[in-house]
Amino acid sequence: MIKDFIDDTKIADILSRAKNPAPARVREIITKSLELKGLSPEEVAVLLQTEDDELIGLIFEAAYKIKKDIYGNRLVLFAPLYVANHCSNNCLYCGFRSDNKELNRVALSMEQIAREVQVLEREGHKRLLMLCGEHPTRSSLEYFMEAIETAYAVKTEHGGEIRRINVEIAPLEAMDYKKLKTTGIGTVVLFQETYSHETYKIMHPSGPKKDYAWRLTAMHRAQEGGISDVGIGALFGLYDYKYEVLGLLLHALQLEKDCGVGPHTISIPRLEPAFNAPAAIKPPHPVSDHDFKKLVAIIRMAVPYTGIILSTRENPAMRSEVFALGVSQISAGSRTNPGGYQEDRSDDFRAAQFNLGDTRTLEEVILDITERGHIPSFCTACYRLGRTGKDFMDLAKPGLIQKFCQSNAIFSFKEYLLDYASSKTRIAGENLIGQMLAGTFKTRRKKSVMDKLHQIEGGKRDIYI
Ligand code: SAM
Ligand code: SF4
Repeated sequence: MIKDFIDDTKIADILSRAKNPAPARVREIITKSLELKGLSPEEVAVLLQTEDDELIGLIFEAAYKIKKDIYGNRLVLFAPLYVANHCSNNCLYCGFRSDNKELNRVALSMEQIAREVQVLEREGHKRLLMLCGEHPTRSSLEYFMEAIETAYAVKTEHGGEIRRINVEIAPLEAMDYKKLKTTGIGTVVLFQETYSHETYKIMHPSGPKKDYAWRLTAMHRAQEGGISDVGIGALFGLYDYKYEVLGLLLHALQLEKDCGVGPHTISIPRLEPAFNAPAAIKPPHPVSDHDFKKLVAIIRMAVPYTGIILSTRENPAMRSEVFALGVSQISAGSRTNPGGYQEDRSDDFRAAQFNLGDTRTLEEVILDITERGHIPSFCTACYRLGRTGKDFMDLAKPGLIQKFCQSNAIFSFKEYLLDYASSKTRIAGENLIGQMLAGTFKTRRKKSVMDKLHQIEGGKRDIYI
């Protein structure tokens, strides 16, 4: 059985040895990152300890180039779906914590979940991240699995359906991950919150989440249970961001070593104010906007093929800055209170997990990112064709997946434009697709993409390669 593999002293040592790096060494590491083979913890520490603005500018440029080379202008969109906010844990930063007696506790019924999914499908969503608190009866695994099956079964007009559900729930035993897999989920996501043992202990005073090692090793158990795509993350603001980035990298490397493949995604949530949550109201180690951009860029350089997920915790201005630095997936039009997608419940902050920095609708986000030249993607092809885990990485690393991704992004966006967009967004979207077809595709592929676009215009849906 895998044991705790995070050594606080080792991380502190790596960071301390990298202090005041020589500019030539920083430049050398930046150049190496452009080979797209990733960076070692020692090299990442040098970048993290770089404070010189000119060198940080070069780090941003390298991250931008890597993002463009691997992910093109695509941004994958999803919506979080909170089904229950009962929780036995007392995480000091979360509105769902057990000591928050003023929270409106809700566990949605299957009918209510179906109604939430209908709202999301009618906005155009195809990908969900389903979440809940940790509670033995109100958020049991059986309840959660039924919720997933309910969500997948909801169909609405224009072929509205959910094509991929990722999940974010408390750590499980390997055999329970195996059970969870039978519902047809995509990625299992779990944030370590903080890799510092001491901070972890302070932030999680009671409940099952107190156990650092059980949480740290959960993504190993998920892989053992047959889940091939796992996602990790740290909650930035709890401890020194440089330490957390190294923790994330060591976690990714350990997964690669033990399971043959690293994480599919890394999430980078920053602490947001939350109802009756002391650590969220006054974060112990606030991360400035500048440092946040720097950490996104460094993660992009360190693990170029791992998707970076950004949520609506960040405001629109910050979101658009970090898209260029490496973010590849974003949530949009989110609510963090169970039932929040139905109008009468949308602003029930007394049931929410934390406050949002970006409260725009999916359509507003899509128009904005399209006008900035990013193509919104609802693609679910890899997961549905079994291109997951190591198979995905084996295709991604030599650059073989890119040709699928760019075409699939266009197909899924075209469906959105026809079925859900306002005329303003449709015009902006068609312009962007036109520019992409003119610029990036060779003649033969362009013809095949155009043929499929005509099929979509003729009413065919769910086309992917
Ligand atoms: N209860 C499970 C857990 O803790 O892993 C499921 C996910 S929990 C609903 C989702 C994540 O929200 C947590 O892992 C935590 O990182 C994040 N979160 C909690 N409070 C937050 C806050 N105030 N600001 C930003 N993110 C927060
Ligand atoms: Fe519960 Fe998760 Fe919130 Fe902690 S972060 S109180 S475990 S919902």
